[in-house]
Amino acid sequence: MSQANAKLNAFPVFMRVAGEAVAIVGNGEEALAKARLLAQSSAVLRIVADNASGGLLDFIASTGAVHINAAYETVHLQGAALVFAASGDEALDRRVAEDARRRGIPVNAVDRPELCDFFTPALVNRAPVAIAIGTEGAGPVLAQMLRGRIDRMLSPSLGRLAALAASFRAAAERLPKGNRRRRFWSDFFAGAPAKAIEAGDLAEAHGAALDLLAQDAPVEGHIALVGAGPGADDLLTLRAHRLLMEADAIVYDALVPEAIVAMGRRDAERLPVGKRKGCHSKSQEEINALLIELGRAGKRVVRLKSGDPLVFGRAGEEMAALREAGIAYEVVPGVTAAFAAAADFELPLTLRGVSSSMVFTTGHDLKGNSLPDWAKLAISGATVAVYMGRSVAAEVAGRLIEAGLSPDTAVAVVENASLAGRRRFHGTLADLPSLEARADLTGPVMTIIGDAVAGANFEQSEPLAAHRHEGAASAVAEGVEQ
Ligand code: SAH
Repeated sequence: MSQANAKLNAFPVFMRVAGEAVAIVGNGEEALAKARLLAQSSAVLRIVADNASGGLLDFIASTGAVHINAAYETVHLQGAALVFAASGDEALDRRVAEDARRRGIPVNAVDRPELCDFFTPALVNRAPVAIAIGTEGAGPVLAQMLRGRIDRMLSPSLGRLAALAASFRAAAERLPKGNRRRRFWSDFFAGAPAKAIEAGDLAEAHGAALDLLAQDAPVEGHIALVGAGPGADDLLTLRAHRLLMEADAIVYDALVPEAIVAMGRRDAERLPVGKRKGCHSKSQEEINALLIELGRAGKRVVRLKSGDPLVFGRAGEEMAALREAGIAYEVVPGVTAAFAAAADFELPLTLRGVSSSMVFTTGHDLKGNSLPDWAKLAISGATVAVYMGRSVAAEVAGRLIEAGLSPDTAVAVVENASLAGRRRFHGTLADLPSLEARADLTGPVMTIIGDAVAGANFEQSEPLAAHRHEGAASAVAEGVEQ
């Protein structure tokens, strides 16, 4: 599935080196590069170099590193916590690596991964915060590029903020565990203390942190009804992403991709409530009750829905229940499936002179005798997006044709819109009923009907009419929520 699940061959850890000796064997550029990297720590550098280069000698003079001005001998590794073989001479590096290993000291040999016990990362240093970047075989160019990007993302004052946080750790441990303590820290890092540090005012930051410690108002719950978008995780909004990272609990529907749920904190409660292969789904009343319970417990909750929460997501009922219970909530929009499907087809939903309105419907309201309003709109030229429409495709086509819409009206269908495995189909209203019998469509399906569909790009799509299969649409695959 997600690339994020691939296994690492080197596991990153932070090694305690304060006051420890770190030996670097080598007298040229490679040794100097390692020495500079290590000098970002408080380790005591021991540089074993006869004939040291001018650069290395300058480095030693300016940092006070210990210089062993002699040809390498095993004894030079004595008592070191880490060893770097950086001589540029393969035989010597191998000897150093073997000596280190025999003494049980982890060793790194520059540019000789087969001799290494560990690799050195590209480092973003905001001491006490460190971000170490490893790329295994992909090489230093990628690592340095990522380092640059991450470095630009982080405030230069992050280290000072982290140092202040460290000084408040003991006091924060006295706060009640759970929400109260977590809220202290999230306000600390995102609220007044962080802002004061950013402005360079340490005293103000300290005072603001003390204020946060003293606050004893009960923690208020909050529910965010968040659109997760149509499936691709990078179609999530930045706001949704931030709320997800802050949430204590994530309540999500079946169509929400795992990768998005996984963006939450590792210790957040994850509560699936939708139909997912064979699992029991909660009734809407149960979901409302769950949200209220979490809100009353003071939790920050993200209620994740696929697409946009206000489009066939039953958000109306959840908002009414929350209002009635007096629980604060907000709504964060998402990219609805119709927009993702249109984008996949390069399909103009409004088209000058052809269609100037758009309908979001399910087609499930076509069962009665009277024609719903949207069918009249379709006849007058609106572009119609049909959600959960696979199992009622024949009904939708039949009723629209009966009402006077031409059987030749263009239709576009996308399964798994926005995802890598998406499939596109095109045809006419007369072909639409064939959708119901296609057992090969197991993902969610969006149907778009109207003259504007003729403006789409059909290069990547298959004709609807060409294919007929046995099997009926299942409500589970459609994620029916209505
Ligand atoms: N709130 C959601 C819709 C939920 S109803 C939104 O705004 O998109 C579920 C229906 O949405 C599915 O039956 C299907 O018709 C449509 N849908 C959701 N994700 C889709 C996707 N990736 N591709 C095609 N259709 C999708």
